[in-house]
Amino acid sequence: MSEDLRKKIKELEAELKVVRLASMQWEEIQRTYQKSNDRLQQVYSELNQVNEKLTMAFEASQLAYWDWDFKSGKLECGENMAHLLGFGKEAFPVTFSAFLELIHPDDVREARENLEKHINGITPFFESEYRLKTARGDWKWVFDKGKIVERDIIGKPLRLLGVVMDVERKKTHENRLLAEFEKADGANKAKSSFLANMAHEIYTPLSGVVGMAEILKQSELSPEQKEYLEIIVDSATNLLSVFNTIMDFLKIEADQIELTNSAFSVYELMEDLVSSLIPEAAGKELEVLSFVDPNIPMLVKGDAIRLKQVLRVFADNGVKFTENGEISISANFLSWDEDTVNLQFKVTDTGIGISVEALKKIFTSFTRIGPSTGKYGGSGLGLAIARYLIIKMKGEVHVESQTGKGSSFVFNVLLEKVPGSEPPFCEPGIKGLKVMVIDSHPSRSGIIIDYLGRMDCDTVIFSNLTEGLQELAHRHKIRRPVDLLIVELEAAMMAMGSFKPGQAWEELNKILLYYPGTGIPKKVSEMGFHTVMKRPFLPAEFSSAILNTITHKTPVTAVKAAFRPPAGHEARQLRILLAEDNLINQKVAQVTLSKLGHQIDIAENGNIAVAMYKKNKYDLILMDIFMPEMDGLEATREIRHIEQSGPMEKAIHICAITANADKDDEEKCYQSGVDSYISKPFKLEELIEILDSIK
Ligand code: ADP
Repeated sequence: MSEDLRKKIKELEAELKVVRLASMQWEEIQRTYQKSNDRLQQVYSELNQVNEKLTMAFEASQLAYWDWDFKSGKLECGENMAHLLGFGKEAFPVTFSAFLELIHPDDVREARENLEKHINGITPFFESEYRLKTARGDWKWVFDKGKIVERDIIGKPLRLLGVVMDVERKKTHENRLLAEFEKADGANKAKSSFLANMAHEIYTPLSGVVGMAEILKQSELSPEQKEYLEIIVDSATNLLSVFNTIMDFLKIEADQIELTNSAFSVYELMEDLVSSLIPEAAGKELEVLSFVDPNIPMLVKGDAIRLKQVLRVFADNGVKFTENGEISISANFLSWDEDTVNLQFKVTDTGIGISVEALKKIFTSFTRIGPSTGKYGGSGLGLAIARYLIIKMKGEVHVESQTGKGSSFVFNVLLEKVPGSEPPFCEPGIKGLKVMVIDSHPSRSGIIIDYLGRMDCDTVIFSNLTEGLQELAHRHKIRRPVDLLIVELEAAMMAMGSFKPGQAWEELNKILLYYPGTGIPKKVSEMGFHTVMKRPFLPAEFSSAILNTITHKTPVTAVKAAFRPPAGHEARQLRILLAEDNLINQKVAQVTLSKLGHQIDIAENGNIAVAMYKKNKYDLILMDIFMPEMDGLEATREIRHIEQSGPMEKAIHICAITANADKDDEEKCYQSGVDSYISKPFKLEELIEILDSIK
């Protein structure tokens, strides 16, 4: 074979190799193509299925979609738009502005605003309810919800997709409900105003009864007449309390109770509460114990009247359902943060208790439990109202009880902090004192020990005086005497017969504690106590009594104790204007005030009151709030206006008198410019307190 031929064969072989390779690649390409094609077919078929489902979903739901291209302004609508609005497909709006024209003129603004909010990223979706014009020319309510589905690289929206839903039936239903609600609301408002009027109608005669009975009390009466009179006052007071409860309940039902928010002292609140409870408790020979945690700030902010009302419900029930033993009321500091103070109140009694079954429904309205309810009486609303108010004060309540042993109601409330108000100052001289307490009653002595512990005193306790005396003598001998002895009257009385004071006793600073209503026997008063102090007391009174005793100062605060004597009345003769339209009330006030030696003029409405104020010089105006022609609030505003525009003279004291059961109105009175406020039927002492405050 020639060299040439061999070369050619080699070249041919190489070419054949290339062709074989190319043919293999071609086959591979064909296979790959086939695979891709199969996959594409599968995707198409899946897509078709999804599309079918989507169409079915749109069919079933009657939702109509729209697709808005921002650049072209073109709008594409789903076929359901035809069902929705009755247009043929050819008449569908094809631009967004054409679609806007179909929206009811009253709704278009809101729809646009909602759209802008979504476009500007304020809302995650566009949502709007509006009316669309149908082919018949009437309007159909629709709900439209959409979302931007495409944006350019800088985030500018390119496409918005939405669905429209027919809500005509829902809207008709809603409108009917709204109309019914408005009707019911109107009826409810009429009911409320009827109740407010009724309250006025009931308070007025009731204040006549209480007022006249108070006047009668001042006159010479036989014991029998006195007894009858007490019954009249008690019945009227009970009637008033039942009426107040029902009014509160009605307001709770209508969620109309608004809490006020002013600064008050929990210490004073507890003092008032306890002192008002003692007469009733003493009548049943029950003891009232009270404890106020000295860590509570002097002032807190909240609705003191409502808080007291809650405490009264528990305390009154305690007295009502207890035959022997005690009612103990405590206020404890739980915590505080920057704005709030969390306080816990506890009212415990040693009464009949509540069964486990009854405990489950105790806070339900109209619940009165057990066979004994007839004996005790009541509306069954007190606890339900208390619970409602506690929840309003952002607190919780729970109860523990054992039949035959007693009950304990515990609740907390969140009050506002008053800037700068700290817990009361504790007398520094007391810290580290060695104190011996002699009291046979554990829960009673527990409170004293608690107070002393908080004052950093070193306390020992004995349950009887004889043992205490032995310990005192021993300590005297080893020259480690105590600094102060606190003896409870009961323990002193028990030791009276065998009492032999030693030198240790003579040298000691001693405080005797007693409960109001219990007389102090002569023998006890001769035992040489430096201070005699009434229980229960507030922590500040206790600490100043201790300080006064150990420094031998006159223990003024201690003797005054927690309970104020009935107010005496030594005010100068005043000229008083009474603005009051009711004849009975006029009469009651006239007799009461003239008996107290004051001169009184009467105006039967606000107009006359303002005219008389301009003409005469008064020391005090007693201003009824509800009066014809011009009411008390307006008259007060008018008088304050005259004062401000006239020469600077002392502003007259205006005391608002209201028959309204709603204590929240107090705030309104103060806003109008009154200086004080009493509600009808007011007690003589309340009026005297106002008169005494006029300088
Ligand atoms: P009422 O006006 O009947 O006292 P409340 O709502 O205050 O209404 O109380 C409901 C019922 O709960 C009472 O009738 C009584 O059966 C029971 N109850 C409430 N407090 C006490 C208590 N401290 N001891 C025993 N039972 C109580």
